[in-house]
Amino acid sequence: MSGKANGEKVLRDIIAHIPEIAQNLKLEQIKIKNKELTSVCPFHNEYNQKPSFHINLTNGKAYCDKCYYEGNIIDTYSKIEGLSIKGALLDLIIMLKRKEKR
Ligand SMILES: [Zn+2]
Repeated sequence: MSGKANGEKVLRDIIAHIPEIAQNLKLEQIKIKNKELTSVCPFHNEYNQKPSFHINLTNGKAYCDKCYYEGNIIDTYSKIEGLSIKGALLDLIIMLKRKEKR
C-alpha cells in the first residue's frame, strides 16, 4: 500500500468518527442533521447564542458563521487541543486504534 493511499484511509476513518471526536473535544450543544454537525463555536465566545460552528460529516471541513473560522477536522482538533498538526493526527489515530480493539 502506498503512503498516500494509507493517508486517505486514515482521513476517511477520522471523518467517519467526527461525532465522537466532537464529544471528546467537549464541543457544546452538538446536533447532527443532514450530514452536518453543528455546535457552539470553540473559537469565539458564543455564550447564550445560537450555535454557529459546523463540521461537514462527508468531507471533514469545519467553519463558523460568526467568526469565519475555516479548517478541516485535523486543523480544528489541533487548535482546540493546542497540538501541532502531527500531534493532532497522532492523537486521532490512537483514538481510532483504541476503538478497533473494542
Ligand atoms: Zn466562531
